[in-house]
Amino acid sequence: MKNQFAIALHGGAGTLVKGMMTEEKEHQYKQALKEALDAGIEVLSKGGSALDAVETTVRVLEDCPLFNAGRGSVFTADGLHEMDASIMDGRNKEAGAVSLVQHIKNPISLAKAVMLHSGHVFLAGKGAEQFAKEQGLEECGDEYFYDEFRYLQWQEIKDSDSFQLDHSKSKDFKFGTVGCVALDGEGNLAAATSTGGMTNKKFGRVGDSPMIGAGTYANNETCAVSCTGSGEYFIRGVVAYDVSALMEFGRKSLIEAADEVIQKRVLSIGGDGGLIAVDANGNIAMPFNTEGMYRACRYMDGSTEIEIYR
Ligand code: ASP
Repeated sequence: MKNQFAIALHGGAGTLVKGMMTEEKEHQYKQALKEALDAGIEVLSKGGSALDAVETTVRVLEDCPLFNAGRGSVFTADGLHEMDASIMDGRNKEAGAVSLVQHIKNPISLAKAVMLHSGHVFLAGKGAEQFAKEQGLEECGDEYFYDEFRYLQWQEIKDSDSFQLDHSKSKDFKFGTVGCVALDGEGNLAAATSTGGMTNKKFGRVGDSPMIGAGTYANNETCAVSCTGSGEYFIRGVVAYDVSALMEFGRKSLIEAADEVIQKRVLSIGGDGGLIAVDANGNIAMPFNTEGMYRACRYMDGSTEIEIYR
């Protein structure tokens, strides 16, 4: 059973058109996606759980400054980094989530600790940080989260009322959130998502990423899903759960359900972005309605894929 696993990850969707990025940058992104995929494959090939695999994979992406999560998180209107993350175990539908946390090196591990040790599902802000201290999670100072590119992005719009989804410029949207879904050798599913949210966000804005059912969902009977895109629309569309519901109640296959949600249902209310999903048979769907999505996966037969564009 050890090789009977599947895993997929994303590093955000958006206006990713071939030729827009230097070859070197493109290579860096692909390397980072490969590194994260390999980390997840290693866990699963040794018989590890889907839950551990999605956490491990997301941690690698959080540690990479190229993505808007963990270390690479964007700046808020106050010049801070406020991160959101969530994780769900398809075995028992247990879930953990955190929102608006600062100085936590790996928010996804905090979300997992919330699930396993807090007796709650969702902790936010100062309380979540206090819980992180009690759990002994690694903290980092502001300098760890400083990235010049992100800083300049923020400087461009900091004195305005506008906010941006990661590197977006007017209509040039790009979402750098990260996520992972996996099926392990025991037939269990899990999903995880982590983000820094939107550049220049204020008023304690929270997107879909830490919301179970919107940005993240896992149920062994149907599928595991992690989303990226315009969070407000993904919340309203309850997107991750919608894929599962179309499979459960609409009798659709994973591919049909994921496509319908991204290409029709969320698009019809104005949402752009994409998702990654895996079902109990190891089928993988990675639809997006933007120009591109950083994504990678390993199918049941052992073949892999690492892509950015359409
Ligand atoms: N969905 C995330 C949010 O709205 C953004 C993203 O996917 O990059 O916070």
